[in-house]
Order: sequence, then C-alpha cells, then structure tokens
Amino acid sequence: KMNTDIGQHVLKNPGIAAAIVEKAELKQSDVVLEIGPGTGNLTAKILEKAKKCIAVELDPRMAAEVTKRFQSTPYQKRLEVILGDVMKTELPYFDVCISNTPYQISSPLTFKLLATSPAPRSCILMFQREFALRLFAKPGDKLYSRLSVNAQMWAKIDHIMKVGKNNFKPPPQVESSVIRMVPKNPRPQINYEEWDGLLRIVFVRKNKTLRSSFIGTSSIMELLEANYRTWCAQNDIPVEDGPVEVANDEAMVMDMGEEQEEHVAEEPADEVMDMDDDDVPDFFKETTNARLEAALKNGASRKKRGKVAELVREKVRQVLDEDTGLGEKRARMCDENDFLKLLWAFNQKGIHFN
Ligand code: SAM
Repeated sequence: KMNTDIGQHVLKNPGIAAAIVEKAELKQSDVVLEIGPGTGNLTAKILEKAKKCIAVELDPRMAAEVTKRFQSTPYQKRLEVILGDVMKTELPYFDVCISNTPYQISSPLTFKLLATSPAPRSCILMFQREFALRLFAKPGDKLYSRLSVNAQMWAKIDHIMKVGKNNFKPPPQVESSVIRMVPKNPRPQINYEEWDGLLRIVFVRKNKTLRSSFIGTSSIMELLEANYRTWCAQNDIPVEDGPVEVANDEAMVMDMGEEQEEHVAEEPADEVMDMDDDDVPDFFKETTNARLEAALKNGASRKKRGKVAELVREKVRQVLDEDTGLGEKRARMCDENDFLKLLWAFNQKGIHFN
C-alpha cells in the first residue's frame, strides 16, 4: 500500500533505474549507500554492479519487501537493509550514494552527504526538478540561492537527466531530475557555521547590495557588534565603550538610495525546496524602509551610537570598500569566491558570524 506522505513514488521504468546506476560508474569493489529503496527497483541494478548495497528505509513494510525480494538469490548476502530515518542514522562507510530521494528531505540529506567523512566518491541523486536546478544554479540565475552557493562550495554538481513524472508509480505532482554530486577533495577548510552565517545574512535579500545588507540593516549591525564583543572577550581584547555622536543623515541617504535602486520581485520562500529559510530569525527580516520611516518620523538628524557599534561599522565599511571592493555587488551576482573573500576579510578584522 502506497503512502504518499513520505514520498513513496516508485520508479517503474527499469530503463531509468539502469541509467541512474550506469551514471554512478560503479566498481565491483564499491559499497553503495541507497536511501529509501522502496520496493527495490534501483537496488536490483545496484546489486548487479557493486560489492555491497546498504539501504536505509524508513517504512518497515518497504524494508520487509526489499529484503524479501532478494532473499534466496545470490544478492542476498550483498544487501544490508537498515530500518530507520536516514537523517537520524549514523551512516556507515560507503563509496557511492545512489538515491531516488524522498523529496521532503532533499536539503538536509544533501548536507548530510556533504558532511560525510571520508567523503563519498560521488552521489547520484534524484530530486524534484526545481530543487535540482537550485543546486547547480550559477550567479545571476533566477534560482541562485543560499542552497546553490553552499552546495557548490563543497561539491561539483552536474545535471545528468530529466525524468518525467510518468516514470513513477504513482506519478508525483512534479517533474524530477537526476544530478551527480562529487564532493570536493580535500574538503575546503572553512568553518561551516561562519560560512553559512554569512550566507544567511546576504541571502535574506539577495537583490540588495552587500552594503545595504550589512551597513544598511541595523539588526545585522547589532548582531555583528554582539559577535564582535564575544570575540574580543574570548581573545582578551579590551573593548572601550561609550556613546559617540554621529551624523545620521549620511547613513539614511545611503540606505534610501539602496532601497530604491532596484526592485526585483523576491521569489516566494519555498520551505521544501530552499534550505530551511523559514528558520531565519525575524529580526533578520526587518526592512531598512521601516527603520528609515521611523527615523524620519523622529526628525532626528543626529543620533548617538556606541563606540563599539561605530568601530564595527567602520570595520564592515573597510571590508566592503577597501579589502574586497564588494560593497556594491548584490548577493545574487556573487560566486563562492566572492563570499570566501568576504568571510576572510571579516574574520581578519575580528568580525564573526557564528
Ligand atoms: N527507491 C525507490 C524507487 O526508486 O523506486 C523508492 C523511492 S521513493 C521516492 C522514496 C523512498 O524513501 C520510500 O520507500 C520511502 O519509504 C523512503 N523514505 C522516506 N523518507 C525516508 C527517510 N527519512 N529515511 C529513509 N527512507 C525514507
């Protein structure tokens, strides 16, 4: 009995199952991890080519079915079925991952695979078409997002083939695509929390300039100030604080300019397909306009800011204008090297994102 709630769309076209396994270029010595074997259509092709297939299946009925399918065959000894949620399972060693992925776990599964150590040689994964397009979108593409930069930071990703919905039983609502993901080896030596923390800030509004995302967004400046204080405390660096008076007009004019510069409609957030952007704290989403309107209403032309706040602001300005020259660039046009440059420059100045 099918239960579409956990994405059980069985691949019924054996030609596609064979093509997927073909693309994995398996060696006789390979250990393959399969996520969600279902009734075992992909599993059968994997077992023909590999030394071993470890299949993680959430649904006990499916796990029983796939086990039974290969019982009393020469493949029985090569198949190990692990019953459970792949996201909660500690993965055993594997050389290659092949999966007709349950689409609800596309994003966390991708990152679980990318975090696996030692890194698999490659992963051949079937995804919902739009998710696949997001994974390998390039700067400037409509679907370029935090997911794209993140995935491409850790892996090389290629599109392998489109798979129409009629190749599944029951047919899903959406079209699918198979991609190949080859983790970079060696892994880039950067701190994931820092890296992702930076990306979260600039991709809240990917059409804004970086200057506007940082200096033009007071909640972000407050966050960076708090992080800076923590960093100073951890490194025994004394911070001198106290109020300073600053001209407010300048900052306001700049912020307004940024907001008016370009109005590209934001993509509606899609919880399933993007990285879980719904967990972006609300204070990240505050718009500069709202703050500006409030400031204008107050009629204040000068305001007080803390010394540390000013210091952090100046550091951020230097990073954007002098160290990287990226202040006027928009996140949607930046590639992973731009973000790396940015993170490096921020960290050099004691500005951190985790
Ligand atoms: N691989 C089979 C095929 O291609 O015919 C079935 C694919 S079906 C889209 C997804 C399978 O993943 C289902 O068998 C489902 O029970 C299983 N599944 C769903 N969520 C899972 C999870 N969190 N961990 C492991 N398996 C899961």
